[in-house]
Amino acid sequence: MKSQENFRKVFSCEFFPPKTEQGLDNLRNTSLKLKQNINPEFFSVTYGAGGSEQHKTFEAVSLINQASGIPVAPHLTCIGSKKSQIEEILNNYKAQGINHIVALRGDIPEGASTGDFAFANELIEFIRSTTGDHFDIEVAAYPEFHPQAQSAEIDLQNFKRKVDAGATTAITQYFFNADAYYRFVESCEKLQISIPIVPGIMPITNYTNLKRFSDMCGAEIPRWLSKRLESFADDMDSLKDFGTEVVSSMCQNLIDAGAPGLHFYTLNQADATTRIWNNLSK
Ligand code: FAD
Repeated sequence: MKSQENFRKVFSCEFFPPKTEQGLDNLRNTSLKLKQNINPEFFSVTYGAGGSEQHKTFEAVSLINQASGIPVAPHLTCIGSKKSQIEEILNNYKAQGINHIVALRGDIPEGASTGDFAFANELIEFIRSTTGDHFDIEVAAYPEFHPQAQSAEIDLQNFKRKVDAGATTAITQYFFNADAYYRFVESCEKLQISIPIVPGIMPITNYTNLKRFSDMCGAEIPRWLSKRLESFADDMDSLKDFGTEVVSSMCQNLIDAGAPGLHFYTLNQADATTRIWNNLSK
């Protein structure tokens, strides 16, 4: 963890773009609450790979920016896109004064073509070649490895490609086993990767959704934790209390071990993230 200890700690919160007016209203309120409670360095907004909902990201980015005044880093996926489309989006963001982006491959929607980019490192090369140093570029990292990874070693090499292409920071997929993160960082150190690798933190508020999502993205819920969460059944208050305790304790361990901040997957809710935050001594 030595490579991580000297970085300034950065705390950030992620949202997804709502589909409805009511969802947007909720997001505005959530961003204001999180500003008041946490005052994060930045908010980020996810982006639907290859789908038709991409304008929702643009809408959410400007709403949050205007409502909270906190800088926003839009996510941008490249799979299924033409270079000209990506260039147009980058230029629009530049014109809005946005200088921070989360650059991803995304997942190929069924039946869609890959477009001009096959992997995220190509997107990062493209961003650097067209916009120079304008953007701080965040990339995804996978302490438990990407679900399509051929092997742990190859996945690490592929992560390095993104760093070599010009990524400035990484945010990890969420995990509930801090050792996976520590080991990942140590492997990165051996490969001379020296950017901040910020743990992505998923608050636990709903076991059914968490399990479904974790199966999809390759994040492991340890057996002891899934058994405990299952046992709460419909007692959501107790599940949330227990989830807050478990995740807060992991966050404190990560901070104490030298992690360069935390990135909260808020699911557009302020309460769960705020409760974790209030348990931490930073
Ligand atoms: P890559 O880094 O390209 O890796 C994908 C796979 O390809 C890995 O298995 C890797 O080992 C392999 N690989 C990489 N480069 C090469 C190469 N040059 N040659 C051969 N193999 C290679 N998804 C969304 O749709 N929208 C979002 O907003 C979004 N935000 C996210 C934010 C974070 C912090 C994280 C962790 C994930 C996010 N995702 C999002 C999910 C992400 O798009 C998926 O995990 C996707 O499958 C991989 O994206 P990536 O950028 O990590 O891809």
